[in-house]
Amino acid sequence: MHELSITKSLVKTVLSRFDDKTMKAVKSVTLVLGGMYDYEEKWLQRYMDELSVGTPLEGAGLCVKKVPVTFKCRRCGFIFPMDLKGSGSVACRQCGSLEYDMHTGREFYVESMEVEDK
Ligand SMILES: [Zn+2]
Repeated sequence: MHELSITKSLVKTVLSRFDDKTMKAVKSVTLVLGGMYDYEEKWLQRYMDELSVGTPLEGAGLCVKKVPVTFKCRRCGFIFPMDLKGSGSVACRQCGSLEYDMHTGREFYVESMEVEDK
């Protein structure tokens, strides 16, 4: 269950942004998640529930925004989506080059959090 360790760092990040002078509780967290991670949303929420007991994050909802995996061609700059579960090598759809870098899909960050003010 790799969701557990990633949820730990998520909870830590949220709590580090929490200011108990002005905030009362966290109501919801929006997480941006790249398509190369196969974390299951229900496990992220479940672990967040468990790990946040006794903290201002307790009972908060988790909203996951998934970002598709895309690659950017090194030769022509064309950006194209790729299914990582697909087989074989995929060439740039515009120029046929096999040299490209991952453009999106590795995201894992807290985009925003909704808080209850004091
Ligand atoms: Zn290209």
